[in-house]
Amino acid sequence: MVDYFSFRNFRQFERSRRELRLPCDLLNDERFRCLTDTQKAHLLCLLLLAARMDNVLPNRPAKLGGLIGATDSVDLSGLSDFISVFSVERAPSQYSESRPVSDAARAAVMVRDGARCRCCRSARNLEIDHIVPVSKGGTSEEGNLQTLCRRCNRRKWKKLVPRI
Ligand SMILES: [Zn+2]
Repeated sequence: MVDYFSFRNFRQFERSRRELRLPCDLLNDERFRCLTDTQKAHLLCLLLLAARMDNVLPNRPAKLGGLIGATDSVDLSGLSDFISVFSVERAPSQYSESRPVSDAARAAVMVRDGARCRCCRSARNLEIDHIVPVSKGGTSEEGNLQTLCRRCNRRKWKKLVPRI
């Protein structure tokens, strides 16, 4: 069993692939105002991370602290008004093979790769890539998945698929 969390009402944060817009009335939100300054900073950094990871983050404060460059330890319990935690049972392998990459696998691979492209270390436009393509018998297990940016992913495909 692996624990993850998502931000509640994530849609209120307008999101594109490259930016996250914060609603200015967040400053009027009593729950936000009551946070300590450290918690506020962590919340905003985690929101930025969530935008990059499709709003599925691992419930592991130490790992998250590393990803957002936190100097104080991340206390998720203090942010409970803003997040909802859920558990994902690891699917048996033959079950997951036939399915597209699950949210849980996606999050696990992103975290493992430090939310950066494994090829060029970019943190922009990240995608989950099958190292051995599904069409060539590759599975959707973590071992066969990697984080690539869109550019490196395209470049890989150009090499795989010769020009006609
Ligand atoms: Zn790249």
